[in-house]
Amino acid sequence: MGPSQRTIPFVTDKVIPVADHRYRAAVPSIPASAHAANGLLTDTLGRPLRDLRISVTDRCNFRCSYCMPKEVFDKHYEFLPHSSLLSFEEITRAARIFVSHGVRKIRLTGGEPLDLTLTTNGSLLERKAQALKDAGLQRVTVSLDALDDTIFRRMNDMDFPVAEVLDGIAAAERVGLRPIKVNMVVKRGTNDQEIVPMAQHFRGTPIVLRFIEYMDVGATNGWRMDEVLPSAQVIERLREQFALRSIDPNYPGETAERWRYADGMGEIGVISSVTQAFCHDCNRARLSTEGKLFLCLFASAGHDLRALLRGHGGRTYSDEEIAAAIGLIWQRRDDRYSEQRSAQQPAREPGERRVEMHYIGG
Ligand code: SAM
Ligand code: SF4
Ligand code: SF4
Repeated sequence: MGPSQRTIPFVTDKVIPVADHRYRAAVPSIPASAHAANGLLTDTLGRPLRDLRISVTDRCNFRCSYCMPKEVFDKHYEFLPHSSLLSFEEITRAARIFVSHGVRKIRLTGGEPLDLTLTTNGSLLERKAQALKDAGLQRVTVSLDALDDTIFRRMNDMDFPVAEVLDGIAAAERVGLRPIKVNMVVKRGTNDQEIVPMAQHFRGTPIVLRFIEYMDVGATNGWRMDEVLPSAQVIERLREQFALRSIDPNYPGETAERWRYADGMGEIGVISSVTQAFCHDCNRARLSTEGKLFLCLFASAGHDLRALLRGHGGRTYSDEEIAAAIGLIWQRRDDRYSEQRSAQQPAREPGERRVEMHYIGG
């Protein structure tokens, strides 16, 4: 069977062809009367555009089962060709336009006065930390799901040792990529026994450990609600060992709920996207590695910004026109998938394809 006839198991029991893993994305319309972007853009629910994630690759050296299960992302999987990816110049142009609309935080790339950060699995960080720092990166978030080497190797499904990620975190600290955050996706029955050891390990350091609820992103990870450990239970387990005090968010719309150790030994956070949806504050857009703009992590269709950045139908577009097109897209935004999931209102048609996490970058 050739790659194009293979199928991906779908969470809804449906199957979809691998060749169909590119997501729908219409070319955005340019409004007739374009006003200059003034940073005051809001969507239909009054949410501003403040945060942009730019994914720079859809490839990965890990195969975390909650993100890129090996059965799907094997040697036959067709990753995007290089020509599809946004170039460095296209990314910086898009970033500039988003900043004119009020974006203040860009994850992966950008420029002053932006807060420039990166999310990584940490596997190459020991080698790259200094170069990243020299290139202008300010801080880093490292994903780490367990300290126990056996559990960690099983979760990344590439037999990658945890010691190398810990060395990467140490290197990031050494070169001053601060503050460092560590993200742990908690899967009940897989790594929940690591909650307390992870907390113990990072307690007493400036590193902020955040526990993330396992999410139903994409269509390939076989997500089940019974594998989600609600953050409230994470906190309960931690409180059996440590005295914790709740603290205020750093800024409105922060996704993590913050806690500190009562004895001053540091901070932890929980991100409860499944059990306590935070759509009402969601000010984040996501630009895929091939330049499609998605307005929600659970979107099934995007907007083809690359067509505007590269020119389309024999036309080229100015920054002002692209800004106006983005403005119109954001003004029409009404996504609130997690809230609808919590309210048991089906937010997507059964069988509708949702973007994969490795493609959109989390
Ligand atoms: N490869 C990098 C990494 O792992 O840090 C960056 C991309 S990864 C898609 C971004 C984040 O998404 C990681 O922290 C990862 O743990 C998280 N993630 C992936 N799949 C998830 C899921 N199903 N539920 C919750 N978090 C998930
Ligand atoms: Fe794991 Fe990140 Fe790679 Fe996904 S993209 S498989 S979360 S390391
Ligand atoms: Fe934002 Fe969509 Fe997540 Fe809600 S479900 S918080 S709208 S990304």
